[in-house]
Amino acid sequence: MLKVASKKLGFPLILALLGLGLTSCTQQFPLGPVNMMVIQPVGPSCQYQIRSASLQTIENISNLQGLLGRVVVHPDDLESDSNIFKLGLGFQGLDVQFSGSNGSYAPLDKDTLLGVSLYYGIEKGYLLFKNLDPSGDLLNIVPNMRDTYIVQNAELKSQPSSDQLYSDNAAYAQIEGANGPRDYFLHFPNKEISSIPLGFNAGVLIHEYAHMVAQYLFHNKRSEAGKNLSSESENTLAAFEEGFADYFAFLATGDPSFFHCSFPQGDGDRDLSHPKYLTTGQLSAITNSIDFDSHDGGAVWAAAQYQIGQLIGHEANGRSLVRFINNLASCTGLASSQVPISFGTLKNCHLQALGTNNNTRVQQIYQNAFGAAGGFQ
Ligand SMILES: [Zn+2]
Repeated sequence: MLKVASKKLGFPLILALLGLGLTSCTQQFPLGPVNMMVIQPVGPSCQYQIRSASLQTIENISNLQGLLGRVVVHPDDLESDSNIFKLGLGFQGLDVQFSGSNGSYAPLDKDTLLGVSLYYGIEKGYLLFKNLDPSGDLLNIVPNMRDTYIVQNAELKSQPSSDQLYSDNAAYAQIEGANGPRDYFLHFPNKEISSIPLGFNAGVLIHEYAHMVAQYLFHNKRSEAGKNLSSESENTLAAFEEGFADYFAFLATGDPSFFHCSFPQGDGDRDLSHPKYLTTGQLSAITNSIDFDSHDGGAVWAAAQYQIGQLIGHEANGRSLVRFINNLASCTGLASSQVPISFGTLKNCHLQALGTNNNTRVQQIYQNAFGAAGGFQ
């Protein structure tokens, strides 16, 4: 899950969309790919613009469905019936409205704009991983990716016994059902966010997409023994995975502070360009599982990746990290056995994926960030 999202979309933005000179409003929407007006990041420091983007994997905009999944809504709390998640029951398409013609379209209302933005963010993540390394192309790995549900304004209790619903957050989840695993991206409604809403913050969607990459390229390759680790090892892996997701969100948006476009204050320092090191308090939380927040440790890991990228090039580092996650289960030994995992283990696997160049300086960056962590070599 990502603690992440923007500015409420008021009339000026909607009117800007309506002011495109596209007049025909028709329900005969085309098959994809299409050019679509979406709100997108265009640089660092939370610069967003409404621009045309090529939706390369969308197949049909009338139901927001494409190779990567379908944008849907659900009328109920998603845990009110266990079959909702397990079998994908009750999800419905959006009532979408577009204007446009000749393969170029613009959403005509806020829900449609949000729906296409969700798909756009997921696709941006997909293209990033695919273009960095062929092993990052999930369409070659996930047998039923088209069945993935991208749930807009999901209702989900934050605790089973609570009436409180998640908000101001987003999540990726893989749910095991009678027909095999089903993948979900969940977008929760904005409640408090007064800057960039999560669904319009592409970095947030890319962060969640990176969790799906980690699921298929790493977790699914762990053996049964390799899934039975100490909480300290699992906490370390969880922290690493949050940082992995933040770094790829930066790579796709070019904005190291993408998180703070939605949360200008609070929720910790997630700006990747701010150097960080693992504090004894964080280390103690990882070890003891008390008040452990994987996003805190993840922010340290992501900031270290940012420094490595500044040193060797972000594209080169991103490419190495796709290889790294693809080989992580075998590199750590988790593909066949139960072994303890430390930040040092992860560093060694990253160095292996990087090859021999720049290892001393990369090692120093890891040492500075995680030197206090147990098991670090
Ligand atoms: Zn996350």
